[in-house]
Amino acid sequence: MMRLPWFEWRAPASLAEAARVLAGEGPQAMLIAGGTDLIPNMKRRHQSPKTLVSLRGVRELKKSNGTLGAGLTLSELVHDGAIRENYRGLWQAAAQVATVHLRNMGTLGGNLCLDTRCNYYNQNYEWRKAIDFCLKKDGDICWVATASKRCVAVSSTDTAPALIALGAKVKLVSARGEREVPLDALYNNDGIDYLTRRADEILTEVSIPAGWTSSYWKLRRRGAFDFPVLGVAAAVRLAPDGTVQEARLALGAAASRPFLVQKGGDFLKGKKLTDEAIAEAGSLVASRAKPMDNTDLDLYWRKDVVSNFVGYALREVRGDDLREARLRIARQALS
Ligand SMILES: Cc1cc2nc3c(=O)[nH]c(=O)nc-3n(C[C@H](O)[C@H](O)[C@H](O)COP(=O)(O)OP(=O)(O)OC[C@H]3O[C@@H](n4cnc5c(N)ncnc54)[C@H](O)[C@@H]3O)c2cc1C
Ligand code: SF4
Repeated sequence: MMRLPWFEWRAPASLAEAARVLAGEGPQAMLIAGGTDLIPNMKRRHQSPKTLVSLRGVRELKKSNGTLGAGLTLSELVHDGAIRENYRGLWQAAAQVATVHLRNMGTLGGNLCLDTRCNYYNQNYEWRKAIDFCLKKDGDICWVATASKRCVAVSSTDTAPALIALGAKVKLVSARGEREVPLDALYNNDGIDYLTRRADEILTEVSIPAGWTSSYWKLRRRGAFDFPVLGVAAAVRLAPDGTVQEARLALGAAASRPFLVQKGGDFLKGKKLTDEAIAEAGSLVASRAKPMDNTDLDLYWRKDVVSNFVGYALREVRGDDLREARLRIARQALS
């Protein structure tokens, strides 16, 4: 049985108190929201914070009037009819995270700040010790890219690519003040230093512009429970005649950060979402996907299907009914 290391527990009741406690505890403290990622990681000794600062009692993180509080659980997002209606891609992404139990505990903020993943890292302490650890934790070599000085662990959050495509911004609050950044700017393409968030900052809320039609498609081994090995998000603003006014296409689980593929969106601008335009956008996006061999399913196949997944996302945005395709993908991934 894997046991948790010892830690101190702080339970602030307000955002100001949480920011003060986090600043006071210093870099050896970590925030905990639902704990669905951090607790297993602590059991595997990926992180051993001296103090955990719990966000569960911070009411300000629960709001959902105009902006989404980082403390909302994924289940709360999934059961919110307005999110399903207005931010379909986010709703689809949240609904496909893990399982019902994990979504009942896991929060939006925790999902956006999720640790990066790798087959050589998401193992227990003894397993990692047997290979002399790796660059990301306790070692000095990357087993995926042995010549690399950079960890290439994979960003595996489902909601981040969906929100990046939607043009979301996040607010970061510390005892020193607050700042708002585009969600895209929250991430570094570095498996270790994967967030630009400072150690004393709390991600408090997410704001999303209105008026976009969006879709999220996820590749994973099983139809439930599994992290994405590819996430494709599309968001489009359409003129009444169906011409694309603006488009954003984002990839998840294809690098150490979720990212926009600018040239895919730019290509679609001013065009109708015809099969030909969708296929060309798919190729442009696929050319930017460079997955590494450190997660589930065959590396080359994962790269091959990127353009198909872009196609699904854009056809759904166009209005095609793709429920059958979603079911088929869930079944195919299993076989
Ligand atoms: C079996 C299993 C399957 C899973 N499948 C998926 C999946 O398919 N897709 C997916 O995206 N995730 C998956 N997860 C990961 C996890 O359950 C979710 O990402 C969840 O949303 C994490 O939220 P949390 O509140 O539990 O985060 P926590 O575990 O509480 O925190 C995660 C990280 O975020 C930081 N953090 C939390 N809140 C904040 C905040 N407000 N400000 C700044 N930092 C913060 C923490 O310090 C920690 O580093 C899975 C987990 C398990 C165990
Ligand atoms: S990518 Fe390399 S350094 Fe990073 S977790 Fe995997 S093996 Fe370790």
